[in-house]
Amino acid sequence: MLHGKTALVTGSTSGIGLGIAQQLARQGAHIVMNGFGEYAAAQQAIESLGVQTLYHGADMSKPAEIEAMMQAAAARFGKVDILVNNAGIQHVAAVQDFPVERWDAVMAINLSSAFHTSRLALPAMLQANWGRIINIASAHGLVGSAHKSAYVAAKHGLVGLTKVTALETATTGITCNAICPGWVLTPLVQKQVDAKAAELKISDAEAKKLLLGEKQPSMQFTSPEELGDLAVYLCSESARNVRGVAWQVDGGWTAQ
Ligand code: NAD
Repeated sequence: MLHGKTALVTGSTSGIGLGIAQQLARQGAHIVMNGFGEYAAAQQAIESLGVQTLYHGADMSKPAEIEAMMQAAAARFGKVDILVNNAGIQHVAAVQDFPVERWDAVMAINLSSAFHTSRLALPAMLQANWGRIINIASAHGLVGSAHKSAYVAAKHGLVGLTKVTALETATTGITCNAICPGWVLTPLVQKQVDAKAAELKISDAEAKKLLLGEKQPSMQFTSPEELGDLAVYLCSESARNVRGVAWQVDGGWTAQ
């Protein structure tokens, strides 16, 4: 379905980004990978699906590095047809204790980076009159939780950016939508499970149950592959008129 297309997925060395990159590759899209840490195994897993990859280690908090990544993607594949803004970090603290440097980092990585990649990808998408921009927001793009001020503000902002980008491209072949996951068991969430287990001196399984029980009525984690399948749908021609939505995959979290 996506043969001949190129998808750039930020933060695709692990977790949700990797799951989405894999599902897009299964549909034939070449993948531009990005993110920190060990990436060779992830890159190999994607290439084994028969597509080409390019890895770029741009720090998504740095606009100049984002520009270099977008240029490298265009140089290798011509243009980016599918942009998945996924890189994100979390920091948990009360507003009055929130370290200013962490606030700035969460805003830069979870929100401003999507503005930069979008503004740089859009000219070629407009020229081709085809494109897909998928912003990985969160249930926290729709509702709040205590101690997550920067994350919740950034994700609400990302949902806003999604709507405006969708409106500005509404008469074109480009769509922009957000996916709003609840709990997905990735390294980002495992850290929060570990913190809870340590704080309350409980087991990993008990901490997971507690985390789910607070927010997610289904009591089940979503998998990165399930989110990848939704991204594949949003890239399909059937989804050409799905524009500006913030699509929950949250086990009922925001239905409460
Ligand atoms: P993760 O920690 O497993 O992966 C995050 C990815 O972003 C990694 O590849 C990491 O290297 C990359 N990254 C972090 N900082 C970066 C930077 N400065 N520059 C470039 N890459 C950077 O996390 P995840 O759970 O897979 O989260 C992915 C996205 O999904 C995030 O935007 C997160 O907010 C969102 N999300 C996650 C959940 C969840 O339950 N896991 C729920 C809702 C939304």
